[in-house]
Amino acid sequence: MPSLEQFAKSKLAALEAVHRRRVLAETDRADAIHVVRDDRAMVSFSCNDYLNLTHHPAVKAAAVAAIERHGTGAGASRLITGNHPLYSVLEDRLAQWKGAEAACVFGSGYLANAGIIPVLVGPDDLVLVDALSHSCLWAGAQLSRGHVEVFRHNDADHLRALLESNRGLYTRTLIVTDGVFSMDGDLAPLAALSALAEHYDAWLMSDDAHGLGVLGGGHGSASACGEKVKIDLQMGTLSKALGSYGGYLCASRPVIDLIKTRARTLVYSTGLPPASVAAALAALDVMAADPALCRRPLDNARAFTRGCDLALAESPIVPLILGEEARALAASKTLEEEGFLVTAIRPPTVPAGTARLRFAFTAGHTAADIVRLCTVVRNRILPQGS
Ligand SMILES: *Cc1c(COP(=O)(O)O)cnc(C)c1O
Repeated sequence: MPSLEQFAKSKLAALEAVHRRRVLAETDRADAIHVVRDDRAMVSFSCNDYLNLTHHPAVKAAAVAAIERHGTGAGASRLITGNHPLYSVLEDRLAQWKGAEAACVFGSGYLANAGIIPVLVGPDDLVLVDALSHSCLWAGAQLSRGHVEVFRHNDADHLRALLESNRGLYTRTLIVTDGVFSMDGDLAPLAALSALAEHYDAWLMSDDAHGLGVLGGGHGSASACGEKVKIDLQMGTLSKALGSYGGYLCASRPVIDLIKTRARTLVYSTGLPPASVAAALAALDVMAADPALCRRPLDNARAFTRGCDLALAESPIVPLILGEEARALAASKTLEEEGFLVTAIRPPTVPAGTARLRFAFTAGHTAADIVRLCTVVRNRILPQGS
């Protein structure tokens, strides 16, 4: 056996060789849009802070007030003494905002998915996962020890075929998908998935980390469908448009009650700091008071896709697929030289051969920012062919 250090070094060297090693870059976010990295000031198109609420005065003030009143930490798991009074206010507000009976707040979106799925399905059950679902949905499915089948991305016909051939072999069946796909920016066909769930006696779970606050008037991707779609389990995060930290599930009261007594990532992990809960609450207030704010990220993404002759954006996330890792890294570097932070996304986050730039548009990006970004992308990134 190699020494632990030898093992780590050879792993790192192997990743380096295929341009897949990742390192943490110190990033100073002076406000919600402008960042400084390596002494270079840039406009960020990589933050998921879609409504720029991480730096909103009312949101910051709410967090500060919560620290003054409730302290910096929750002190214990929610089931012990960590369930400070802000939790129930936030859960009621989230349930109302999502049109659900009840909600449960988790330590993060990742912890939510890792906790929820194993409560609902086990070894006798089937989990059907969209091929491009977020890493933490896979983690939850694996922890459940259910039988996992993958359906082709956004392919309801493939899902139907898998249900047809597998549904009868298992007791319970759960279909899981992102609402807005985090690295592609496209939307799940929720109405079709919901109809299949109904027909095959399955439950449907959507992860709307990137839908909340920016689609469907801020209510999320299900509300953007234009028709009422039944989604049994609506999961999301407080960490993106809401500018805070934490995750949530909205569902019926009995489901939420079961989750609160059984989800291991809730039971065995300390409650969120009061400031995070208070910030999310204040962010919901800002959103509810300003529907126009919630439309701006998508409008800005569409201004960019029009300006660059790309397919019209469906969400604030716009991918520019470049292929090999080295090419995406070089493109990101080019944009940095021009004063734009646009992180290269590489496998295994995305499938091999689809390394890309991922642009995330926020409410506060100006028309001038977007025009200049378009010019740079058109002149320095796109001409290199594909
Ligand atoms: C970011 C993200 C998560 C994780 O949420 P955190 O609160 O950051 O842990 C889950 N699902 C999707 C689709 C995401 O993009």
